[in-house]
Amino acid sequence: MKTAFEAAEQYFEEAATVMNLTSSMRELLLIPEREVKVQVPIKRDNGEIATFVGFRIQHNSKRGPMKGGLRYHHEVNADEVLALASLMTWKTAVVDLPYGGAKGGIAVNPKDLSIDELERLTRRFVDEIHDIFGPDKDIPAPDMGTNSQTMAWIMNQYEKFHGFSPGCVTGKPVELYGAEGREEATGRGVGTLTLALLRKFGRSIESSTVAIQGFGNVGTFTAAYLQKAGGKVVAISDVSGAIFNKDGIDITAALAWVADKKSLAGFPGGESISNEALLALDVDVLIPAALGGVLTEDNAKDVRARFIVEAANGPTTPEADAIFNKKDVIVLPDILANAGGVTVSYFEWVQNQQYFRWDLGRVREELERTMTRSFDKVWSTAQEKKVSLRVAAYLVGIGRVARATTLGGI
Ligand code: NAD
Repeated sequence: MKTAFEAAEQYFEEAATVMNLTSSMRELLLIPEREVKVQVPIKRDNGEIATFVGFRIQHNSKRGPMKGGLRYHHEVNADEVLALASLMTWKTAVVDLPYGGAKGGIAVNPKDLSIDELERLTRRFVDEIHDIFGPDKDIPAPDMGTNSQTMAWIMNQYEKFHGFSPGCVTGKPVELYGAEGREEATGRGVGTLTLALLRKFGRSIESSTVAIQGFGNVGTFTAAYLQKAGGKVVAISDVSGAIFNKDGIDITAALAWVADKKSLAGFPGGESISNEALLALDVDVLIPAALGGVLTEDNAKDVRARFIVEAANGPTTPEADAIFNKKDVIVLPDILANAGGVTVSYFEWVQNQQYFRWDLGRVREELERTMTRSFDKVWSTAQEKKVSLRVAAYLVGIGRVARATTLGGI
Protein backbone atom coordinates (compact mmCIF):
# COMPACT_ATOMS: atom_id res chain seq x y z
CA MET A 1 0.00 0.00 0.00
CA LYS A 2 1.19 3.51 -0.78
CA THR A 3 2.27 5.77 2.07
CA ALA A 4 -0.02 8.67 2.93
CA PHE A 5 2.26 11.09 1.10
CA GLU A 6 2.53 8.90 -2.00
CA ALA A 7 -1.27 8.76 -2.12
CA ALA A 8 -1.57 12.56 -1.77
CA GLU A 9 1.12 12.99 -4.44
CA GLN A 10 -0.71 10.68 -6.83
CA TYR A 11 -3.92 12.70 -6.52
CA PHE A 12 -1.87 15.87 -7.06
CA GLU A 13 -0.23 14.43 -10.20
CA GLU A 14 -3.57 13.32 -11.70
CA ALA A 15 -4.89 16.88 -11.47
CA ALA A 16 -1.57 18.45 -12.49
CA THR A 17 -1.64 16.38 -15.68
CA VAL A 18 -5.19 17.53 -16.55
CA MET A 19 -3.99 21.12 -15.98
CA ASN A 20 -0.80 20.70 -18.01
CA LEU A 21 1.18 22.05 -15.07
CA THR A 22 4.90 22.37 -15.86
CA SER A 23 7.30 20.07 -14.06
CA SER A 24 9.02 23.03 -12.39
CA MET A 25 5.69 24.26 -10.99
CA ARG A 26 4.85 20.72 -9.81
CA GLU A 27 8.15 20.58 -7.96
CA LEU A 28 7.62 23.99 -6.39
CA LEU A 29 4.14 23.02 -5.21
CA LEU A 30 5.06 19.57 -3.88
CA ILE A 31 8.20 20.35 -1.87
CA PRO A 32 7.24 21.75 1.56
CA GLU A 33 8.60 25.15 2.57
CA ARG A 34 9.82 23.95 5.96
CA GLU A 35 9.90 20.71 7.96
CA VAL A 36 10.58 20.89 11.68
CA LYS A 37 11.22 17.87 13.91
CA VAL A 38 11.89 18.45 17.58
CA GLN A 39 12.59 16.53 20.74
CA VAL A 40 9.83 16.99 23.34
CA PRO A 41 10.99 15.73 26.74
CA ILE A 42 8.71 15.87 29.80
CA LYS A 43 8.88 14.80 33.41
CA ARG A 44 6.27 12.10 34.05
CA ASP A 45 4.14 12.27 37.20
CA ASN A 46 6.39 9.57 38.73
CA GLY A 47 9.49 11.74 38.25
CA GLU A 48 10.91 9.83 35.28
CA ILE A 49 11.78 11.60 32.03
CA ALA A 50 9.93 10.57 28.86
CA THR A 51 11.02 11.88 25.44
CA PHE A 52 8.67 12.29 22.48
CA VAL A 53 9.13 13.49 18.90
CA GLY A 54 7.12 16.45 17.59
CA PHE A 55 6.64 17.66 14.01
CA ARG A 56 5.44 20.81 12.29
CA ILE A 57 5.52 20.73 8.52
CA GLN A 58 4.76 23.97 6.70
CA HIS A 59 3.83 23.03 3.19
CA ASN A 60 2.85 26.24 1.41
CA SER A 61 2.24 29.89 2.34
CA LYS A 62 1.65 31.42 -1.11
CA ARG A 63 -1.99 32.28 -0.35
CA GLY A 64 -1.56 33.36 3.28
CA PRO A 65 -0.52 32.19 6.75
CA MET A 66 -0.38 28.43 6.95
CA LYS A 67 -3.16 26.52 8.67
CA GLY A 68 -3.49 22.97 9.88
CA GLY A 69 -4.19 20.71 12.82
CA LEU A 70 -1.99 19.26 15.50
CA ARG A 71 -2.39 15.52 16.02
CA TYR A 72 -1.43 13.47 19.09
CA HIS A 73 -1.36 9.84 17.99
CA HIS A 74 1.17 7.04 18.46
CA GLU A 75 1.46 6.53 14.66
CA VAL A 76 2.34 10.16 13.82
CA ASN A 77 5.34 10.27 11.49
CA ALA A 78 6.96 12.72 9.08
CA ASP A 79 5.48 11.11 5.97
CA GLU A 80 1.92 11.27 7.24
CA VAL A 81 2.31 14.82 8.57
CA LEU A 82 3.68 15.97 5.19
CA ALA A 83 0.76 14.33 3.36
CA LEU A 84 -1.74 16.03 5.68
CA ALA A 85 0.08 19.37 5.37
CA SER A 86 -0.20 19.26 1.58
CA LEU A 87 -3.90 18.34 1.84
CA MET A 88 -4.35 21.48 3.95
CA THR A 89 -2.82 23.64 1.19
CA TRP A 90 -5.33 22.31 -1.37
CA LYS A 91 -8.19 22.35 1.15
CA THR A 92 -7.83 26.00 2.17
CA ALA A 93 -7.56 26.87 -1.54
CA VAL A 94 -10.66 24.82 -2.53
CA VAL A 95 -12.80 26.75 -0.06
CA ASP A 96 -10.91 29.94 -0.95
CA LEU A 97 -9.68 30.89 2.52
CA PRO A 98 -6.69 33.30 2.51
CA TYR A 99 -4.45 30.60 3.98
CA GLY A 100 -1.73 28.13 3.09
CA GLY A 101 -1.31 24.64 4.53
CA ALA A 102 0.61 23.03 7.40
CA LYS A 103 0.22 20.13 9.83
CA GLY A 104 1.87 18.98 13.00
CA GLY A 105 1.80 16.26 15.55
CA ILE A 106 3.49 14.42 18.36
CA ALA A 107 4.04 10.68 18.26
CA VAL A 108 2.28 9.85 21.52
CA ASN A 109 -0.81 7.98 22.62
CA PRO A 110 -2.54 10.71 24.63
CA LYS A 111 -4.44 8.07 26.61
CA ASP A 112 -1.10 6.96 28.12
CA LEU A 113 -0.54 10.38 29.71
CA SER A 114 -2.26 12.10 32.62
CA ILE A 115 -3.84 15.49 32.04
CA ASP A 116 -0.88 17.19 33.79
CA GLU A 117 1.58 15.27 31.60
CA LEU A 118 -0.35 16.30 28.47
CA GLU A 119 -0.19 19.92 29.56
CA ARG A 120 3.58 19.70 30.14
CA LEU A 121 4.02 17.98 26.75
CA THR A 122 2.03 20.68 24.94
CA ARG A 123 3.82 23.57 26.63
CA ARG A 124 7.22 22.03 25.96
CA PHE A 125 6.34 21.56 22.30
CA VAL A 126 5.38 25.25 22.10
CA ASP A 127 8.74 26.16 23.71
CA GLU A 128 10.43 24.33 20.84
CA ILE A 129 8.42 25.77 17.93
CA HIS A 130 7.03 29.15 19.07
CA ASP A 131 9.29 31.05 16.68
CA ILE A 132 7.89 29.40 13.58
CA PHE A 133 4.15 29.74 14.21
CA GLY A 134 1.83 32.63 15.09
CA PRO A 135 -1.20 34.59 13.84
CA ASP A 136 0.50 35.78 10.64
CA LYS A 137 2.71 32.72 10.04
CA ASP A 138 1.11 29.40 10.82
CA ILE A 139 -1.97 28.75 12.96
CA PRO A 140 -2.43 25.27 14.50
CA ALA A 141 -5.84 23.78 15.40
CA PRO A 142 -7.17 20.57 16.98
CA ASP A 143 -6.99 17.22 15.20
CA MET A 144 -7.08 13.62 16.41
CA GLY A 145 -6.00 13.41 20.04
CA THR A 146 -6.07 17.16 20.70
CA ASN A 147 -8.95 19.44 21.68
CA SER A 148 -9.86 22.94 22.81
CA GLN A 149 -7.99 22.46 26.10
CA THR A 150 -4.80 21.67 24.17
CA MET A 151 -5.32 24.87 22.16
CA ALA A 152 -5.81 26.91 25.37
CA TRP A 153 -2.44 25.66 26.67
CA ILE A 154 -0.79 26.47 23.33
CA MET A 155 -2.15 30.04 23.35
CA ASN A 156 -1.12 30.58 26.96
CA GLN A 157 2.42 29.29 26.39
CA TYR A 158 2.83 31.19 23.12
CA GLU A 159 1.80 34.44 24.82
CA LYS A 160 4.62 34.04 27.37
CA PHE A 161 7.02 34.63 24.47
CA HIS A 162 5.02 36.95 22.22
CA GLY A 163 2.36 38.74 24.33
CA PHE A 164 -1.40 38.75 23.71
CA SER A 165 -2.05 36.71 20.54
CA PRO A 166 -5.37 34.82 20.56
CA GLY A 167 -5.08 34.34 16.78
CA CYS A 168 -1.98 32.13 17.16
CA VAL A 169 -4.19 29.03 17.33
CA THR A 170 -7.85 28.16 16.61
CA GLY A 171 -10.29 25.68 18.07
CA LYS A 172 -9.89 27.39 21.46
CA PRO A 173 -12.60 27.17 24.15
CA VAL A 174 -15.41 29.65 23.50
CA GLU A 175 -14.61 31.23 26.90
CA LEU A 176 -11.07 31.91 25.70
CA TYR A 177 -11.39 33.61 22.30
CA GLY A 178 -12.82 30.50 20.60
CA ALA A 179 -15.66 30.69 18.07
CA GLU A 180 -19.22 29.57 18.60
CA GLY A 181 -19.87 26.60 16.34
CA ARG A 182 -16.25 25.47 15.84
CA GLU A 183 -16.80 22.11 17.52
CA GLU A 184 -19.70 21.15 15.27
CA ALA A 185 -18.27 22.76 12.13
CA THR A 186 -16.65 19.81 10.34
CA GLY A 187 -19.65 17.52 10.87
CA ARG A 188 -22.04 20.28 9.90
CA GLY A 189 -20.08 20.92 6.71
CA VAL A 190 -20.07 17.18 5.90
CA GLY A 191 -23.83 17.08 6.48
CA THR A 192 -24.48 20.17 4.35
CA LEU A 193 -22.52 18.78 1.42
CA THR A 194 -24.03 15.29 1.72
CA LEU A 195 -27.42 16.92 1.15
CA ALA A 196 -26.06 19.04 -1.73
CA LEU A 197 -24.54 15.94 -3.39
CA LEU A 198 -27.75 13.91 -3.10
CA ARG A 199 -29.74 16.80 -4.60
CA LYS A 200 -27.50 16.81 -7.69
CA PHE A 201 -28.55 13.21 -8.31
CA GLY A 202 -32.23 13.91 -7.72
CA ARG A 203 -32.14 12.10 -4.38
CA SER A 204 -33.29 13.28 -0.99
CA ILE A 205 -31.83 12.67 2.47
CA GLU A 206 -35.28 11.56 3.69
CA SER A 207 -35.15 8.54 1.39
CA SER A 208 -31.46 7.73 2.04
CA THR A 209 -29.67 5.40 4.42
CA VAL A 210 -26.28 6.32 5.87
CA ALA A 211 -23.39 4.42 7.52
CA ILE A 212 -20.73 6.38 9.42
CA GLN A 213 -17.34 5.03 10.47
CA GLY A 214 -15.98 6.85 13.54
CA PHE A 215 -18.04 8.40 16.32
CA GLY A 216 -15.69 11.14 17.50
CA ASN A 217 -15.96 14.87 16.85
CA VAL A 218 -16.70 14.61 13.14
CA GLY A 219 -18.74 11.39 13.18
CA THR A 220 -21.08 12.47 15.97
CA PHE A 221 -21.92 15.91 14.55
CA THR A 222 -22.36 14.43 11.06
CA ALA A 223 -24.69 11.74 12.40
CA ALA A 224 -26.76 14.24 14.39
CA TYR A 225 -27.00 16.64 11.44
CA LEU A 226 -28.08 14.00 8.94
CA GLN A 227 -30.61 12.45 11.29
CA LYS A 228 -32.11 15.88 12.01
CA ALA A 229 -32.31 16.48 8.25
CA GLY A 230 -34.45 13.33 7.94
CA GLY A 231 -31.82 10.75 6.98
CA LYS A 232 -31.74 7.23 8.36
CA VAL A 233 -28.36 6.56 10.00
CA VAL A 234 -28.34 2.75 10.05
CA ALA A 235 -24.75 2.18 11.22
CA ILE A 236 -22.15 3.93 13.36
CA SER A 237 -18.83 2.75 14.76
CA ASP A 238 -15.81 3.55 16.84
CA VAL A 239 -12.56 1.77 17.59
CA SER A 240 -14.48 -0.82 19.67
CA GLY A 241 -16.64 -1.97 16.70
CA ALA A 242 -19.82 -1.06 14.82
CA ILE A 243 -23.56 -0.99 15.56
CA PHE A 244 -26.21 -1.69 12.89
CA ASN A 245 -29.95 -1.07 13.01
CA LYS A 246 -31.91 -1.28 9.75
CA ASP A 247 -34.65 0.97 11.19
CA GLY A 248 -32.15 3.72 12.04
CA ILE A 249 -30.02 4.27 15.13
CA ASP A 250 -31.22 6.70 17.77
CA ILE A 251 -28.22 9.06 17.61
CA THR A 252 -29.25 11.00 20.73
CA ALA A 253 -29.25 7.73 22.71
CA ALA A 254 -25.88 6.73 21.21
CA LEU A 255 -24.39 10.11 22.16
CA ALA A 256 -25.65 9.72 25.73
CA TRP A 257 -24.21 6.17 25.88
CA VAL A 258 -20.78 7.32 24.67
CA ALA A 259 -20.78 10.33 27.02
CA ASP A 260 -21.31 7.92 29.89
CA LYS A 261 -19.26 4.85 28.84
CA LYS A 262 -16.60 6.58 26.68
CA SER A 263 -17.18 3.90 23.99
CA LEU A 264 -19.95 2.52 21.78
CA ALA A 265 -19.23 -1.01 23.06
CA GLY A 266 -22.40 -2.58 24.47
CA PHE A 267 -24.73 0.11 23.06
CA PRO A 268 -28.13 -1.63 23.01
CA GLY A 269 -29.68 0.37 20.11
CA GLY A 270 -28.74 -2.14 17.39
CA GLU A 271 -26.83 -5.32 16.63
CA SER A 272 -23.10 -5.34 16.83
CA ILE A 273 -21.14 -5.88 13.60
CA SER A 274 -17.46 -5.55 12.66
CA ASN A 275 -15.90 -2.32 11.43
CA GLU A 276 -15.11 -4.05 8.14
CA ALA A 277 -18.76 -5.11 7.73
CA LEU A 278 -19.89 -1.49 8.17
CA LEU A 279 -17.90 -0.45 5.08
CA ALA A 280 -19.69 -3.08 2.99
CA LEU A 281 -23.27 -2.33 4.09
CA ASP A 282 -25.99 -1.86 1.47
CA VAL A 283 -26.54 1.85 2.19
CA ASP A 284 -26.90 4.92 0.00
CA VAL A 285 -24.17 6.98 1.69
CA LEU A 286 -20.98 5.76 3.36
CA ILE A 287 -19.10 8.31 5.48
CA PRO A 288 -15.62 7.36 6.70
CA ALA A 289 -15.00 9.72 9.66
CA ALA A 290 -12.15 8.01 11.52
CA LEU A 291 -8.74 7.16 10.11
CA GLY A 292 -6.93 7.50 6.80
CA GLY A 293 -6.37 4.57 4.41
CA VAL A 294 -9.48 2.54 5.38
CA LEU A 295 -10.91 2.09 1.86
CA THR A 296 -8.35 0.05 -0.03
CA GLU A 297 -7.83 -2.14 -3.08
CA ASP A 298 -8.87 -5.10 -0.88
CA ASN A 299 -12.26 -3.87 0.33
CA ALA A 300 -13.31 -1.31 -2.34
CA LYS A 301 -15.01 -3.97 -4.45
CA ASP A 302 -17.23 -4.88 -1.45
CA VAL A 303 -18.50 -1.33 -0.99
CA ARG A 304 -22.18 -1.16 -1.97
CA ALA A 305 -22.85 2.52 -1.20
CA ARG A 306 -23.49 4.77 -4.23
CA PHE A 307 -22.02 7.82 -2.48
CA ILE A 308 -18.90 8.12 -0.31
CA VAL A 309 -18.43 11.36 1.60
CA GLU A 310 -14.86 11.60 2.92
CA ALA A 311 -15.21 13.18 6.35
CA ALA A 312 -11.82 11.77 7.44
CA ASN A 313 -8.58 12.88 5.85
CA GLY A 314 -7.25 10.47 3.22
CA PRO A 315 -9.67 7.57 3.86
CA THR A 316 -9.48 6.28 0.25
CA THR A 317 -6.28 4.92 -1.28
CA PRO A 318 -5.68 5.77 -4.97
CA GLU A 319 -6.23 2.09 -5.87
CA ALA A 320 -9.63 2.11 -4.16
CA ASP A 321 -10.44 5.44 -5.78
CA ALA A 322 -9.84 3.94 -9.23
CA ILE A 323 -12.19 1.05 -8.38
CA PHE A 324 -14.88 3.49 -7.22
CA ASN A 325 -14.56 5.52 -10.41
CA LYS A 326 -14.99 2.36 -12.47
CA LYS A 327 -18.02 1.24 -10.40
CA ASP A 328 -19.57 4.74 -10.72
CA VAL A 329 -19.44 5.23 -6.97
CA ILE A 330 -19.46 9.00 -6.40
CA VAL A 331 -16.75 10.13 -3.98
CA LEU A 332 -16.94 13.58 -2.41
CA PRO A 333 -13.25 14.16 -1.59
CA ASP A 334 -11.83 15.05 1.81
CA ILE A 335 -10.33 18.38 0.76
CA LEU A 336 -13.85 19.63 0.10
CA ALA A 337 -16.08 17.44 2.29
CA ASN A 338 -14.35 18.08 5.63
CA ALA A 339 -13.34 21.71 5.02
CA GLY A 340 -16.03 23.00 7.40
CA GLY A 341 -13.61 22.76 10.32
CA VAL A 342 -10.90 24.91 8.81
CA THR A 343 -13.55 27.31 7.52
CA VAL A 344 -14.87 28.02 11.02
CA SER A 345 -11.27 28.09 12.28
CA TYR A 346 -10.81 30.92 9.79
CA PHE A 347 -13.90 32.67 11.19
CA GLU A 348 -12.42 32.31 14.68
CA TRP A 349 -9.10 33.82 13.56
CA VAL A 350 -10.91 36.69 11.80
CA GLN A 351 -12.80 37.45 15.03
CA ASN A 352 -9.55 37.30 17.05
CA GLN A 353 -7.75 39.62 14.63
CA GLN A 354 -10.66 42.09 14.67
CA TYR A 355 -11.53 41.81 18.42
CA PHE A 356 -15.09 41.25 17.23
CA ARG A 357 -17.50 38.44 18.12
CA TRP A 358 -19.97 36.71 15.84
CA ASP A 359 -23.00 34.82 17.16
CA LEU A 360 -23.71 31.19 16.29
CA GLY A 361 -26.29 32.14 13.66
CA ARG A 362 -23.73 34.15 11.70
CA VAL A 363 -21.12 31.39 11.92
CA ARG A 364 -23.58 28.78 10.61
CA GLU A 365 -24.80 31.04 7.84
CA GLU A 366 -21.29 31.91 6.63
CA LEU A 367 -20.23 28.26 6.89
CA GLU A 368 -23.14 27.12 4.75
CA ARG A 369 -22.42 29.84 2.20
CA THR A 370 -18.71 28.95 1.98
CA MET A 371 -19.31 25.20 1.74
CA THR A 372 -22.11 25.48 -0.82
CA ARG A 373 -20.20 27.96 -3.01
CA SER A 374 -17.12 25.68 -2.95
CA PHE A 375 -19.22 22.60 -3.74
CA ASP A 376 -20.84 24.37 -6.72
CA LYS A 377 -17.43 25.41 -8.04
CA VAL A 378 -16.05 21.86 -7.77
CA TRP A 379 -19.22 20.38 -9.26
CA SER A 380 -19.16 22.70 -12.30
CA THR A 381 -15.43 22.06 -12.79
CA ALA A 382 -16.08 18.30 -12.78
CA GLN A 383 -18.84 18.71 -15.40
CA GLU A 384 -16.80 21.05 -17.56
CA LYS A 385 -13.59 18.98 -17.54
CA LYS A 386 -15.38 15.61 -17.41
CA VAL A 387 -13.38 14.47 -14.37
CA SER A 388 -14.23 13.01 -10.95
CA LEU A 389 -15.13 15.31 -8.06
CA ARG A 390 -11.72 14.52 -6.52
CA VAL A 391 -9.77 15.60 -9.58
CA ALA A 392 -12.04 18.66 -9.89
CA ALA A 393 -11.39 19.66 -6.27
CA TYR A 394 -7.64 19.36 -6.84
CA LEU A 395 -7.94 21.35 -10.07
CA VAL A 396 -9.65 24.18 -8.19
CA GLY A 397 -7.22 24.07 -5.24
CA ILE A 398 -3.98 23.60 -7.15
CA GLY A 399 -5.09 26.16 -9.76
CA ARG A 400 -5.53 28.85 -7.10
CA VAL A 401 -2.17 28.11 -5.44
CA ALA A 402 -0.37 27.97 -8.80
CA ARG A 403 -1.87 31.31 -9.87
CA ALA A 404 -0.89 32.97 -6.57
CA THR A 405 2.62 31.58 -6.99
CA THR A 406 2.93 32.85 -10.54
CA LEU A 407 1.56 36.28 -9.62
CA GLY A 408 3.73 36.69 -6.52
CA GLY A 409 6.90 35.14 -7.91
CA ILE A 410 9.51 33.38 -5.80
P1 NAD B 1 -11.79 11.90 17.05
O1 NAD B 1 -10.54 11.45 17.72
O2 NAD B 1 -12.71 12.82 17.75
O3 NAD B 1 -12.66 10.62 16.61
C1 NAD B 1 -12.15 9.54 15.89
C2 NAD B 1 -13.17 8.41 15.97
O4 NAD B 1 -12.71 7.33 15.16
C3 NAD B 1 -13.37 7.82 17.37
O5 NAD B 1 -14.73 7.51 17.54
C4 NAD B 1 -12.55 6.54 17.31
O6 NAD B 1 -13.00 5.55 18.23
C5 NAD B 1 -12.81 6.13 15.89
N1 NAD B 1 -11.87 5.16 15.37
C6 NAD B 1 -10.53 5.09 15.55
N2 NAD B 1 -10.04 4.00 14.93
C7 NAD B 1 -11.09 3.39 14.34
C8 NAD B 1 -11.24 2.24 13.56
N3 NAD B 1 -10.19 1.48 13.25
N4 NAD B 1 -12.49 1.90 13.12
C9 NAD B 1 -13.56 2.66 13.43
N5 NAD B 1 -13.47 3.76 14.17
C10 NAD B 1 -12.27 4.11 14.61
O7 NAD B 1 -11.31 12.51 15.65
P2 NAD B 1 -12.10 13.53 14.72
O8 NAD B 1 -11.69 14.91 15.08
O9 NAD B 1 -13.54 13.16 14.68
O10 NAD B 1 -11.41 13.23 13.31
C11 NAD B 1 -11.81 12.13 12.51
C12 NAD B 1 -11.21 12.29 11.11
O11 NAD B 1 -11.66 13.52 10.55
C13 NAD B 1 -9.69 12.36 11.06
O12 NAD B 1 -9.28 11.75 9.84
C14 NAD B 1 -9.40 13.84 11.03
O13 NAD B 1 -8.13 14.12 10.44
C15 NAD B 1 -10.54 14.29 10.16
N6 NAD B 1 -10.87 15.72 10.29
C16 NAD B 1 -11.23 16.25 11.50
C17 NAD B 1 -11.57 17.58 11.60
C18 NAD B 1 -12.05 18.18 12.89
O14 NAD B 1 -12.45 19.36 12.86
N7 NAD B 1 -12.06 17.45 14.00
C19 NAD B 1 -11.51 18.40 10.46
C20 NAD B 1 -11.13 17.83 9.23
C21 NAD B 1 -10.82 16.48 9.19
